[in-house]
Amino acid sequence: MNYKSKLAIHGGTPVRDKYLPYGRQWIDQEDIKAVVNVLNSDYLTTGPIIEKFEHKISKYVGARYAVAFSNGTAALHGACYATGIKSGDEVITSPMTFVASSNCILYQGGKPVFADIDMNTYNIDTKSIKKLITDKTKAIIPVDYTGLPADLEEINNIAKKHRLVVIEDGAHALGASYKGKRVGAISDMTMFSFHPVKHITTGEGGIITTDNKEYFEKLKQFRTHGITKQKNKIDDYQGAWYYEMQMLGYNYRITDIQASLGISQFDKLDKFIKLRREYANIYSEAFKDIEEIICQSNKDDRVSSSHHLYVIRLNLSKLKATRKEIYDALIKENIGVNVHYMPAYYHPYYKKLGYKKGICPNAEKLYSEIITLPLFPAMSRRDICDVVKAVKKIIYYYSKSV
Ligand SMILES: *Cc1c(COP(=O)(O)O)cnc(C)c1O
Repeated sequence: MNYKSKLAIHGGTPVRDKYLPYGRQWIDQEDIKAVVNVLNSDYLTTGPIIEKFEHKISKYVGARYAVAFSNGTAALHGACYATGIKSGDEVITSPMTFVASSNCILYQGGKPVFADIDMNTYNIDTKSIKKLITDKTKAIIPVDYTGLPADLEEINNIAKKHRLVVIEDGAHALGASYKGKRVGAISDMTMFSFHPVKHITTGEGGIITTDNKEYFEKLKQFRTHGITKQKNKIDDYQGAWYYEMQMLGYNYRITDIQASLGISQFDKLDKFIKLRREYANIYSEAFKDIEEIICQSNKDDRVSSSHHLYVIRLNLSKLKATRKEIYDALIKENIGVNVHYMPAYYHPYYKKLGYKKGICPNAEKLYSEIITLPLFPAMSRRDICDVVKAVKKIIYYYSKSV
């Protein structure tokens, strides 16, 4: 077949006439009703719906407690506060993530230390973690990249041995499971995000799940200015009006409007994940015999991804094009591809802090080869087929062997 004659990049017809984004929320009438109900109720914020939402999530993942925040980044900040991260402390994390995973360390005055990733799973490499532990290390922030849980057992064992706290960035991994447990019930604290591209959305929102009562209480107080009204936490209780600010917290509260949307979205979570899994499997099947494309691999079938992102890695030695050329060609086909992520320490702010290229060679190599394909439950099977068609068209066009 002559793909060249049909190529959009040379004026041919694109595979799609309508642009397909890489991610998008799914909002239905139930969601809209849920939001309107709150608007007609007594409380827009700090009302009864927030705890209901928290309870749904904690029960689902199998954790004792959950504290919802205004966004996932605020939730990570809260977790770093509850851990007691302070100036001079080191926290080990992955560079193959959104900057929030390491920014939360900086908010507390700590120092992010970047461990390299495994080239099969693209998750943080436990051998690299071990090499970076010092007397100053206080915590590890593994990221469940694309929804595939990191090596959680090994990471938590390392943490126990060195008395470190594990704050899991599970922004991609709501609904993922690891050796019989859901993500959210494994590490000391786990964060989930409810940004519109994530598994379920509250517009903006995030949550920490934990089994630890002390963390739970610190997180709640941190979320609302460091204020408490709890009698048993106040020495000089003066009456029913009384509250005290006991530490410097923030206004990181989620609203009842958001929490209500969250509950309504949560009711669709199983369906969402089922669709994501089905679509991811279609991609994996379609690409498995194409030597120009390498897919993320799962080392253990007791670990299951919730498929937030579908990332392909280009085998550039077999292609006549750069990643950028292939990316641009797919955009011309109206396929909304993306790149997740540039290593966090490549960003100018981190460069100014003194981080240099070369510290995580695997993450840097991966960054130069990856493309994120559209994946979200509101896509149709037809959309998935369009993506496969466009990827094959572009890959074959640039292949050295076709
Ligand atoms: C989305 C995301 C966050 C931040 O969540 P927000 O709710 O957008 O603040 C953190 N880490 C990762 C890996 C993410 O994908």
